[in-house]
Formats: sequence, structure tokens, C-alpha cells
Amino acid sequence: MTIRYRFLIALFALLLLFTGFAIAQSGSSPKLDQSQLDIPTTIPAAAQASDHFDVDAATEAYLAEMPASARSRSDAYFEGTYWLILWDFLYGVVVALLLLNLRWSASMRDLAERITRFRWLQTFVYWIEYLVLTTILTAPIAIYEGYIREHQYGLANQTFGPWLGEQFKDLAVNAVLGGALVVVLFAIVRKLPRTWWIWGAVVSMIFLVFAVMIGPVYLQPIFNKITRLDDPKITEPILSMARANGIPAHDVYEIDASKQTTRMSANVSGFGKTMRITLNDNLLRRGSPEEIEAVMGHEMGHYVLNHIAKDMLFLLIVAVCFFGFLKWSLDWSLARWGAKWQIRGIGDPAVLPLVVLLASVFFFVFTPIQNTQTRTGEAEADMFGLNASRQPDGFARAALHLGEYRKMRPGPVEEFIFFDHPSGYNRIHRAMQWKKENMSLFMPADHSTEPSGNSSTPSNPQPSAK
Ligand SMILES: [Zn+2]
Repeated sequence: MTIRYRFLIALFALLLLFTGFAIAQSGSSPKLDQSQLDIPTTIPAAAQASDHFDVDAATEAYLAEMPASARSRSDAYFEGTYWLILWDFLYGVVVALLLLNLRWSASMRDLAERITRFRWLQTFVYWIEYLVLTTILTAPIAIYEGYIREHQYGLANQTFGPWLGEQFKDLAVNAVLGGALVVVLFAIVRKLPRTWWIWGAVVSMIFLVFAVMIGPVYLQPIFNKITRLDDPKITEPILSMARANGIPAHDVYEIDASKQTTRMSANVSGFGKTMRITLNDNLLRRGSPEEIEAVMGHEMGHYVLNHIAKDMLFLLIVAVCFFGFLKWSLDWSLARWGAKWQIRGIGDPAVLPLVVLLASVFFFVFTPIQNTQTRTGEAEADMFGLNASRQPDGFARAALHLGEYRKMRPGPVEEFIFFDHPSGYNRIHRAMQWKKENMSLFMPADHSTEPSGNSSTPSNPQPSAK
């Protein structure tokens, strides 16, 4: 045992040393020149309105606006995340196996039992011990992924101190919300030994809805400042578009995402009364008005097409499948190794590393399905956004900006497995297709052209609910 401990400590010290070295490196490396990523706001010649508008040529013209250096950097960044999915998975598996095989998990449970005699409190104490220990063990990969790598690719704005501070805030949120969920789930497992997996799925979903609902009002403000946007030049076209699409919005929100990242984005968050549309300040600062309108149209698509509610329904089905898998696989593995790991049964909190291990196997295999579900919704929101904003060029430019951190032109299999949004190429291509089919909107008034109906691809610009 002692040899194994010594080996582990040495390995961990080595990892920390490597991390410290890499942080020092990333701090001294020259900062990326943000201006070189800025995309010209003029419409490229081949994408300008004309009688002989060619969708492919227009798409290529937009793609050519991205400097080759920026393109290869974003390809490398995005392809790196494919490997990170695998490394994260393997790293998590090793940590879970260590906690089980070295019986650290059983020791943490014993400690919790010595601290309090209330069962629910024992579960909560175990959760805190588990969270702290796994946070320390996974720190090297978390720091590399969340801090060092983001700086290497010029996507982060935060120095190490504030970044670390946010990790602690994150830990505190996990301790409270995660703790509440874990306590409730273990109580269900003990009370309903045969049907716990169904009730577990239902309760997890209720927790998720609750977290999504309080998110924009109570969770996001822990990390960022969210303000009402009050520049009518920006809000008026957005609110007008909202009214035209039956969205009862009176406000648009801005989030100071530039505190952490250079990424441009916007989102629809919340559930029920807390649902809202938020733009980040990078989009406001770097996006043209057409681009902002195009992005807002996309976000409104999520709202009008009820994507949050549909995602929840999808996740409920996934949760039932997952908990069913969990019941079967826990029974199977505890029958084999339960005694060795000193785990008394499924109702014993010491089983948690095994649950996390099985969950990571399930969700690792599930990655392409989850990505495809999300990407399908995103493609719907894209079409809705084009119809609502009528800004195909603004949308194409937004796709180029998003190309700073997403590969622009993946292969079809690559896009299917790894992309949770349509690729930049596909987004621009669809925008240019839309432009061709609505060419009369973009032609000078004296030059009337029928919207072309003879296009080779099916023309159905109307968004349709799933
Ligand atoms: Zn979206």
C-alpha cells in the first residue's frame, strides 16, 4: 500500500510541476493580435446580389475572407478538443478506479460516519470529501484545458488568479446544488430499492429544470455582470424582430463575457418566467449591426421553436435510459468487486466513484448522439434566424467570427460526431442559398428579379417545428 501511495504522490507532484511550468510558459508567450482575426465588413464580390448569383462561389468567397493562419489555428484548436474528449474520459476513469481500489472512497464514507450519525448528513459530508479530493486529483487536466490551452490559442482574457477564483466559486455551487441532488438520490435508492432508477431519473430532471430556471437570475451573476442593454440603436431592431415573431420580450440583456473569453456569442437561457435573450459584449463590440441582428434572429429561433422545453424532454428520455443502465451495471459490478472496494450496496455513498465511472462510459459513447440532437436544433434556429432577420450576409460574417474557435470545414463524419453546431461552411452555404432564393430583397429597386424558384436545392425557407 505504502509503495502505491508514494508512487501516486510522486506522479501527482510531477503533474503539478508540469502544470506550473506550462502556466509560466503561457504567461510569457506573446499575446495573439486580435485585430488579425477581424473580418472585413464589406460583402465579398462573389457574394454580392446579382442575376447570376452562385451559391457555391459566394460561400467560397466568404470562406476566403478568413486568413489562412487564423484558419489553421482554429482547426488545430477544434481538432484538439476531439482528443480532449478521450483524455478527459480516460483521466476520469483512472481517478475513479484509484478511489475504489485504494479504498479511499470507503475511508471517506467511514470518516463521514464518524462525523455525524444522521444518514442524510453523512451523504452530504461524503459528497464534500469526494468533491474536494477529485477536484485536486483532476486539477492538472482542468488547468491545462480551462486555462493554459485557452491562452495558447488567444481565446482567454483572464490571468491565473481570477481564473482560479472562479474555479472555487464553481466548486461552491457544485457543493450546494450537487450536494442537494446527491442527498435526495441516495434517499430514494434506500427507500425504493426496486424502482429507484425511474424515480432517480425523474428527480434529476426536476433538479435540472430548477437549475436552468434559477440560472440567469441567481447562478450567472456569481460569475459575470448581466445588465439590461439600453442602446436603442441596438435594442430597437431586436425588439421589433421579437414582436414580429410573437416573443413577449421587453428587454435584451448583455453579459460581460469578455472578462473570461474573446469568443463572440449570444444565448437564450432560463425557463418559464426567467427565459431571456442575452448577447455577450464581444458580439456587441466586434459584430456589425447586421451580424447582431442575424445572431439575434437565431436566438429567437430557439425561443419560438421551444428548444429549451424540447431539450428537457429529450434529456428526460436520456435520463431514464441512463438510470436503467446504471441499475444494471451497478448490480453487475458490485456483485464482482463490491467486497473488495468495501462498498455495502447501492445505497452506500461510497459507491459514488463507481457511479461517476459508469456515467462517464455511458456519456462518452453518447457524445455523437447528444451532438446530433443539439446540432439539429441549431440548424433549425439558423433557418428561423435567416427568415426573421433577413441578414444572410450578417449571418455569414457571424459564422466566420465563430470560426475563430470552431473548425470551418470538417468532413461529414467529423461534423456528425463532434459538432454541436453546424459547421461554418454549412452555415454560410445555407445563408447564401437563402440569399439566392430571396434575391429580390437585395437587388436595387429599379432592377426587379423574381425570387428564383429554379434552384437545384429544395426551397423551403419556412422554419418548421420538430
Ligand atoms: Zn443556437
